[in-house]
Amino acid sequence: MTQVVERILAVVGETGMIADRQAMEPFSIDQRRRYFGKPLAVVRPASAQETAAVVRLCAEARIAIVPQGGNTGLVGGATPDASGGQIVLSTARMDRVRALDSVNNTLTAEAGCILANVQRAAQDAGRLFPLSLAAEGSARIGGNLSTNAGGTAVLRYGNARDLVLGVEVVLASGEIWDGLRSLRKDNTGYDLKQLFIGAEGTLGVITAAVLKLFPLPKAALVALAAVENPAQALELLALAQARCADALTGFELFSDACLSLVLRYFPGTVAPFRERHPQYVLVELCDRESAAHAQTALEGLLGEGAEHGIVRDAVVAQSLQQARALWALRENISEAQAREGPNAKHDVSLPISRIAEFVGATDAALEREYPGVRLVTFGHLGDGNLHYNLAPPEGVAHDEFLRKAEAFNHIVHDSVARFGGSISAEHGLGQAKREEILRYKSPVEIDLMRKVKQALDPLGIMNPGKVI
Ligand code: FAD
Ligand code: ZN
Repeated sequence: MTQVVERILAVVGETGMIADRQAMEPFSIDQRRRYFGKPLAVVRPASAQETAAVVRLCAEARIAIVPQGGNTGLVGGATPDASGGQIVLSTARMDRVRALDSVNNTLTAEAGCILANVQRAAQDAGRLFPLSLAAEGSARIGGNLSTNAGGTAVLRYGNARDLVLGVEVVLASGEIWDGLRSLRKDNTGYDLKQLFIGAEGTLGVITAAVLKLFPLPKAALVALAAVENPAQALELLALAQARCADALTGFELFSDACLSLVLRYFPGTVAPFRERHPQYVLVELCDRESAAHAQTALEGLLGEGAEHGIVRDAVVAQSLQQARALWALRENISEAQAREGPNAKHDVSLPISRIAEFVGATDAALEREYPGVRLVTFGHLGDGNLHYNLAPPEGVAHDEFLRKAEAFNHIVHDSVARFGGSISAEHGLGQAKREEILRYKSPVEIDLMRKVKQALDPLGIMNPGKVI
């Protein structure tokens, strides 16, 4: 064992350190099994003070630190490199809810709290913590903030960035910045907490955060509407926003190709309509009055949609079980695609007004490049965020198809740039898009990012090789 590892061990104790090759494996591979690292050790400090002591030792020895939460990230941001010289700093043991203030509507959570546990703690106090995504059973708050996670309730409540009032961060120097303020107004200079949110561990280690809570809605109601194309889905979105305002919490789009995948790879899934349609929209309303009130609003919306010729068919969930089944159609798409085989994924965002045009133009360009390509397009339409994935035509091997991955990426991302969008809406840059982003951000913006990195991490020990 190297000397520095021994000194770290003295700080965190036996339970705070994993150095056995096999035991380190789950921390060394990313969620999608695209990146395989080899850490020097996995270090699991139990507090911000221990984290600070570890960072100081690493700074002294110039050892790189890769922060890791639930390791559910999709861009390889939490995976160490293969040099055997980086440590993984797991936040898993910092998992206490430190405080809940139901008058201020805030909850202070340590970085290692699992998202679902934070949601539950809020609910036990009669409050809502609205961040919600399919990996919530294992993703941790520090990871959620470091990736500025989105999810299914962004339309109403915003991204992780919008849900934070304060943070506690261990800086690359090993100092602790206690920025755990719980203020809704604070104009005292630069908003430093926002630097660390979405930084993917490249500027410091978040050890705790003050999160915003909201009143629990009285009822949540879900419907699925069949529409002809993305343009009509957008018309329905405008109608839903006009009629339902703040009650509209989810507006998710998926194509019939997505439905086919879920039906094939999740046996027992029932098709929502007797006939198939080109596109489907899942609408969720959260109501402050009652389930009956939500039902009236949702039926009114779908009725007007049908009158305008937008909605071809619709179903409103009549029970929690039916609501879950409708959500499962949307949430199981990624997993169904994974079961089918590797595919080309794009997590893009666009001005909502330009989505239909983007889809039309990009679909056509890809069809020219690879006739028969299957377009597996779904996403959080209400946020302008599409998971624009590509699969090979039936019968073509996935590996052969993926030889063109780079060409696909450029077609999709160039098109995103043309329509004023972003090549990473919610998953971040990590290792996966670190090079690609250089094509799309101006040298001025990249240079600004480098200056921030240099100022906060002059030794370059915080998650090197990621983001920038
Ligand atoms: P990790 O994967 O452990 O880390 C992610 C990044 O944050 C890494 O760069 C890591 O170094 C850094 N990091 C982690 N903790 C800290 C810390 N305490 N301080 C500093 N840096 C840190 N994402 C969405 O935005 N929306 C979705 O809808 C969504 N759905 C998903 C569905 C599935 C099935 C899966 C597998 C993933 C999904 N994701 C989604 C991606 C992922 O779950 C989120 O990015 C999540 O927020 C990551 O949390 P984590 O704790 O797993 O972070
Ligand atoms: Zn998503």
